[in-house]
Amino acid sequence: MKTCDFPPDMRDLIEPRPSGRMEYVCLGCGASHGIGELLYTCPSCGEVLLLEDKDFARLKKTPPETWRKLFDYRRMASLTALKGIYRYHEFLGPVIPPGAVVWLGEGHTPLVRACPSLRDEAGQDFYFKNDGQNPSASFKDRGMASALSYINWLVTEGRLEEVLAVCASTGDTSASAALYAGFLHPRVKSAVLLPHGKVTPQQLSQPLGSGARVFEIPGVFDDCMKVVEALAENYNVALLNSKNAWRILGQESYSYEIAQDLDYGLGGVAVFAPIGNAGNITAILSGFLKFYETGIITALPKIVGVQSAHADPVFRYYLEPDGEKRKFIPVTVRASVAQAAMIGNPVSMPRVIHLVRRYNLLSGKKNVFFVQTTEQAIMDAMLTANRRGHIVCTQGGECLAGLAEAKRTGVVTKDETAVLDATAHALKFSGFQEMYFEGGFPAEFGITPREELKNRPRLVRPDGVKAFPAPGKPLSGEEFTQFVQGTSKTIADVLGLLPRA
Ligand SMILES: *Cc1c(COP(=O)(O)O)cnc(C)c1O
Ligand SMILES: [Zn+2]
Repeated sequence: MKTCDFPPDMRDLIEPRPSGRMEYVCLGCGASHGIGELLYTCPSCGEVLLLEDKDFARLKKTPPETWRKLFDYRRMASLTALKGIYRYHEFLGPVIPPGAVVWLGEGHTPLVRACPSLRDEAGQDFYFKNDGQNPSASFKDRGMASALSYINWLVTEGRLEEVLAVCASTGDTSASAALYAGFLHPRVKSAVLLPHGKVTPQQLSQPLGSGARVFEIPGVFDDCMKVVEALAENYNVALLNSKNAWRILGQESYSYEIAQDLDYGLGGVAVFAPIGNAGNITAILSGFLKFYETGIITALPKIVGVQSAHADPVFRYYLEPDGEKRKFIPVTVRASVAQAAMIGNPVSMPRVIHLVRRYNLLSGKKNVFFVQTTEQAIMDAMLTANRRGHIVCTQGGECLAGLAEAKRTGVVTKDETAVLDATAHALKFSGFQEMYFEGGFPAEFGITPREELKNRPRLVRPDGVKAFPAPGKPLSGEEFTQFVQGTSKTIADVLGLLPRA
């Protein structure tokens, strides 16, 4: 729909204009730093940063009804800059001119209500938000769209010339970074660092196909992260890990979409997210807080972070009920099917601590929870969901397993509606499914496949059939008839089909 066709009171608001006064704010010393250059940590104290709009208060002057209506109207607008995460421009990156927005189809992923039988079994109403339906098949595209729109803005303004974007990754960050960097060819190039043998073949194929320089590093993600931090410290590169606060900002769109898709009614809603480097949960908390502070939502949903027992530093931190006594201790990770979240020392931990405190405070009660689940439960949950019409990855399975655990421990009740983050597409993690089906799980995962969840193809080559077709060698006549009849008979027998009356 064209802007001129919107109702007169909305027309002026549909197309966003650059506004706001964004600065990096340090969570350690509280210092603010200008956004004229890429910063990842505070130059004064070395702590992580968040982006803050110093003029955020202006957004409170617009009535909440107007914001809600505006976002709903923008759904209908045909402007490219509004098709993705920047539908929420004023909340996301108000300084970015719409012309600099990079949109590759990310955002507005479907909130799919769970299969009825799955809801019955969970004893609970719930949805999967299919973030695997983003262009590189994970939620990381939300953050990359934001980070690369910012870089694109600096480049088009002539403030940056050539950019080499780098990141360390458990697979999906590099897939996304390489995709978005490729789009900004030739001014932006990318290089990605991956833990050798610790990303799936599908994830490895993505940055390779997008033309990034790909480096495999011995060790786990946490080791890669140290190397990439050393690169960012000593060389002229743009770091695209979630240490980069622009990533967090873009990922906040996840919360805005849930709010909009549930018609801004979030009372009695519990949002589940897997935690790895903790960028995603940081963004989810921050996003809901911004909508709450402006009155767009009048209730903050419950947030439940989920971790596997094989990589659970955040869960362990919050086991201590006394906030004063909590002490963050990184863990040494063990093999996990939730491999994209297999991180022992999450970069965003200070952000989580800061935002959880604030979230609980504004909720007027404890409203952020952390649950732990087993590798077995993750796999069983993923396979079960996907047998019922869903497309969740292992981390999405982790959320479903987390829902069961939250229910068991009283963190959520049956009256609440859960939204589970299916953070990536199932296809990226099909190797774990294959290990489960073929009985090939290494012992370190601690997973025993359940027969009823296994599935495998069956070659049909009946004994009575004399000849079979082969590529380039079709059958004909009697041989072909016999092949079709013998094969279909065998399939009908296996399936127990009854002849037509
Ligand atoms: C990155 C990632 C996670 C973990 O998110 P964090 O922001 O690192 O906590 C979970 N699932 C998938 C599919 C991911 O790619
Ligand atoms: Zn500082």
